[in-house]
Amino acid sequence: MLDPTAVNHLPMPTPVFRFAPSPNGELHLGHALSAILNHDLARAAGGRFLVRIEDVDAARARPAFVAGILADLDWLGLAYERPPRFQSDHVADYRAAIDRLAAMGLVYPSFASRADVAEAVAAAERAVGRPAPRDPDGAPLHPGLDRDLDPTDAARRVAAGEPHALRLRMAEAAALAGPLAWDEAGAGPAGETGTVTADPLAWGDVVLARKDAPASYHLAVVVDDAAEGVTDVVRGRDLFHATAVHRLLQTLLGLPAPRYRHHGLVLGPDGRKLSKSLKSEGLAALRAAGATPADIRARLGLV
Ligand code: GLU
Repeated sequence: MLDPTAVNHLPMPTPVFRFAPSPNGELHLGHALSAILNHDLARAAGGRFLVRIEDVDAARARPAFVAGILADLDWLGLAYERPPRFQSDHVADYRAAIDRLAAMGLVYPSFASRADVAEAVAAAERAVGRPAPRDPDGAPLHPGLDRDLDPTDAARRVAAGEPHALRLRMAEAAALAGPLAWDEAGAGPAGETGTVTADPLAWGDVVLARKDAPASYHLAVVVDDAAEGVTDVVRGRDLFHATAVHRLLQTLLGLPAPRYRHHGLVLGPDGRKLSKSLKSEGLAALRAAGATPADIRARLGLV
């Protein structure tokens, strides 16, 4: 007789959540919301909660901010697996991912400075008499400077140490990947939820690495989420549209797709998204003014 209670379930992978701050400022209430949601959702799901310090951009990361972030997390009582992961320890992995994309013919070096790019955008706007196309964050799309350089010439300039950024050939990359979507448990700025169609073309030729940063945010985040087995990405709605680039890179690199949950942003008294310079909503300032972790949860509507 078969025992109907002895169903052989496939083991479900343990959910893995992460909070991934960049140490270029102090944590504010918006970060606290992300951190607390990740921690609480992991706990409710019997999953793991990881912290990752996104310090790959050495020009902007500061050790003092790392210490402050970890102190704030401890103060909030959010237990995470020790030690936290530091992106700066994994530069070789980002390089390997860029090399894979390059081997697929999807990467080019761009020697143009920021000023060259701004000038090319301005010239294109003058020529057509209207604003240049913008990415979802409102920045002009890269005008493709150096996209069509002779490959031998470009390789020679790279070998000679000429400063450059590495950019993705977006049109080719998106064509190779085909249609993309993600599973959204939260919502985008226009209420997008459920299965969301990814539109990486909206971002143009995104940067994969710069001379002062061995990996861009987009590249490092997909490599790290896969390396850490992250199943659930919970983060602010300001990164909703960036998910299209992440799904593209995951697909090209053969990495699994996590589930995504983008949460609402915490607004300051002026109705604008909190910035790292807004000291009054900084966790350290709130703590110094006598706030308790319970007060922080209450202010965020999390009780
Ligand atoms: N490091 C990013 C930030 O501080 C967040 C990355 C992510 O959650 O994907 O905005």
